[in-house]
Amino acid sequence: MTEKSIQKILVANRGEIAVRVMRTAKAMGIKTVAVYSEADSGSPHVMMADEAVNIGPAPSAQSYLKMDKIIEVCKDLGVDAIHPGYGFLSENAAFAKKVAENGIIFIGPSEHAIEVMGDKLAAKNTVAKYDVPMVPGVDHAVEDVEEAKKIAKEIGYPVLIKASAGGGGKGMRVVDREEDLGEQMQRAMSEAASAFGNPAVFVEKFITSPRHIEIQVIGDQHGNLVYLFERECSIQRRHQKVIEEAPSAILTPEKRKAMGEAAIGVAKSCGYYGAGTVEFIVDEQLNFYFLEMNTRLQVEHPVTEEITGIDLVKEQIRVAEGKKLSFTQDQLKINGHSLEVRVYAENPRENFLPDTGMLNTYRIPKGEGVRVDDGFTEGMDIPIYYDPMIAKLVTHGKDREEAIQRMLKAIDDYHISGINTTLDFCHFVLEHEAFVSGKFNTKFVEEHYKPEMLDKYDAEHEKMAIALAVLVATEEDRKANNANANKEESKWQLRARD
Ligand code: ADP
Repeated sequence: MTEKSIQKILVANRGEIAVRVMRTAKAMGIKTVAVYSEADSGSPHVMMADEAVNIGPAPSAQSYLKMDKIIEVCKDLGVDAIHPGYGFLSENAAFAKKVAENGIIFIGPSEHAIEVMGDKLAAKNTVAKYDVPMVPGVDHAVEDVEEAKKIAKEIGYPVLIKASAGGGGKGMRVVDREEDLGEQMQRAMSEAASAFGNPAVFVEKFITSPRHIEIQVIGDQHGNLVYLFERECSIQRRHQKVIEEAPSAILTPEKRKAMGEAAIGVAKSCGYYGAGTVEFIVDEQLNFYFLEMNTRLQVEHPVTEEITGIDLVKEQIRVAEGKKLSFTQDQLKINGHSLEVRVYAENPRENFLPDTGMLNTYRIPKGEGVRVDDGFTEGMDIPIYYDPMIAKLVTHGKDREEAIQRMLKAIDDYHISGINTTLDFCHFVLEHEAFVSGKFNTKFVEEHYKPEMLDKYDAEHEKMAIALAVLVATEEDRKANNANANKEESKWQLRARD
């Protein structure tokens, strides 16, 4: 393995993750190139990059997913590596292959690893030799309803029908009774066919009330692989995460080690290098089962960075250059506790319906142990074309309680108007007895949440809006006075960061 130093990275992504990757690249003295769609021309990731190229209209199929266009930009600008972020082309094996064929470094795993782990059935088969616990079920595609009925009877209801090519919670159906199986299977197959172009489904045991706990792994191209502990991601809506934390409130050191080693087994099974995440579901007795591997940097990677002190993007870049990992398993320690809430442009009062519009007010919180990864500024529109995530709010504390307290305060200090967000909902969760005690699972929303529980925040919002208006008015007065008195420039910064 020959080492190659990376001088210029193109980030094939947008929003907070593009900004996040460029932050580390800049700190490493690497030049950055942004690509952007017409909807994103004024975005922070475009401003931040050393060079930026418009690659097409707003719909991602005409811009962020245009492989050849992105590779052409790399050639024109002398780019030597591409960071794909998450989503878009990050788990596209054909893209990884094309990038390599054009002599550009793909900051991620091999095409083979992406391909195998991108298909849930192929992943189950590959992992089978490595002593990794699997959810009871079948490891092959099922087309025939009678066969599915036979399998379901053996493993016992409820069962889950899953799309092999699935992602984003699509193509999944829970079936409680045999008489519903035929219909649900047809639905899952047609959903899978239209969403992924592949109708293959399989059947597995539906674990009632599970927790979703995942392990961060990273490997180099010399065969070294380590795990960077777990992230608890059980607070979900529509099978998708909204609050994450590290470490999990319930894992014992023994269980952590067992899950970490199982994750290493999964990574080894496909010759993994780069950063990746092995997802497990965990039942009430703390038995854990392999779900899938995500072959990219995960949205929730900051909580792992906070507790380990490791910059995962920096490690990804080093590994892509062919360097060895800069630490061993024994050198990794958990320091304190970290939480992340995803600030989505969604209305938690309307079944988390995505919202669009302008960020009339956008003020981020600041303080000890508070980190905001975002990709928007005040006055910007949240486009309808992409994922509705505005930002990730992350806190770190010496223990779970401190991380929660810091998060509650940070949510209070996060001022957004013009658009509905998940901030109130996250505040509600973090104060809830089930969350505080650590006794929760993926059914939290179903079991503990009703929209009217957010009513108390409406009055607080009004108070906050008035306080903010007074602050801005006072500041404008002060500015006017200063300007008149000695024309001295105001040093006041309404936006706390930069
Ligand atoms: P996707 O790739 O579509 O996100 P996953 O396999 O990662 O699908 O599962 C997403 C979520 O669905 C998990 O976090 C968990 O909440 C739930 N889930 C998946 N498999 C099972 C199962 N066998 N039993 C219970 N819940 C499951």
